[in-house]
Amino acid sequence: MTTKAWIPASTSARLEQLVRVRPGITRQEAATRLGLSTSAVTTAVARLVGSDRLVETGPAEGTRGRGRPRGSLSVTSPASTVGVLLYSYGVFELAVLGYDGTTRARQRREVPGLLSVDDVVAAARGLLARSAGWQRPDLLVFGIPSPFHRDVGLPPRPPGSDTDRRSFANVFTGDPFEALAEAVDAEVLWENDANLAALGECSQQSETERCALYVKVGGEGIGAGLCIDGRIMSGGHGLGAEIAHLRTDDDPQAICSCGSRGCLDVSTGPRLMRQLADAYDRELTWAEWLVLVETGAAGPVRVMQDVGRQIARTIGNVCTFLDPSSIILEAGSAASTAALAEGFADQLGQQTPPFIHSVTQIRHGNLGDRAELLGAVEVARQHIGP
Ligand SMILES: [Zn+2]
Repeated sequence: MTTKAWIPASTSARLEQLVRVRPGITRQEAATRLGLSTSAVTTAVARLVGSDRLVETGPAEGTRGRGRPRGSLSVTSPASTVGVLLYSYGVFELAVLGYDGTTRARQRREVPGLLSVDDVVAAARGLLARSAGWQRPDLLVFGIPSPFHRDVGLPPRPPGSDTDRRSFANVFTGDPFEALAEAVDAEVLWENDANLAALGECSQQSETERCALYVKVGGEGIGAGLCIDGRIMSGGHGLGAEIAHLRTDDDPQAICSCGSRGCLDVSTGPRLMRQLADAYDRELTWAEWLVLVETGAAGPVRVMQDVGRQIARTIGNVCTFLDPSSIILEAGSAASTAALAEGFADQLGQQTPPFIHSVTQIRHGNLGDRAELLGAVEVARQHIGP
């Protein structure tokens, strides 16, 4: 094949960068993402394959027509990686992933109390040191259990607030963002953890899930993320899809850490766990609770169904307003998610007009505890290129 001289060099560079962060992409998909014609991409592929920078596998010889397998592109240089730091209350998870989603390293650390800036910096340095056996991460993505907007920042802590008390959007004993950027020689991106999970789930099916609302229920509370056209919708200040602080009519006297009353967060998460402890006359961990649901114990199953109903009551109008193509539910295990989804679907049918609930797909999360990690990889991809 002849390489056309009029193809600008930057086209090849852009294509190589795209293939580096989206290994396995086809020529057609690359053309769409780069806004180029397929013939321009074909010419650039030939140039990069000829200089041993790209390889293309398939389609098989002699296969033609609509069923013809599509060829996939990959770079010949060592696979690039993304470093991921995920902080949830009490647990710090670190991972290195390839852009193909493979996990190169993963570890969890218990972190009692709030997270200090030193904890964050030490963890990031440890992660980068462990990556000596493979390509050093281009980027670190830090997932946090608070609303966050990349260009706006966390809502400021109120003057005079107690730093040892967990409060709204306050999980750190200092501001770790600037310190981390200075301490590691890698670009650092920040995102809300539920947004990462939402992006991870919907990036697997972005062609059919144009508007996907993800809701996760766990022992620490409830989180949600909204993805539109495969991108996180984080609102004007990072609070977009912040489901935990939607007002629900249940128990409106209960005050929330955000300063409002009757938030959904109050009746799920820690409050839910306390109610369970009262019902069973002993403290239960979330893991123990999931086992009870798994065994089909009537009480725990009913509680998860009721949580699903309460969520649907709270976001029913939001669904009518947004018209999501999918609502993705995750509650820690298959049985727990099934019970949550049962109550949710039942209540959504009463909260929304038929033209909404009859077309909205309610599905379980497919990725489990890998949703945030794969969302972090997608965040890195979107940051780097088209
Ligand atoms: Zn609240």
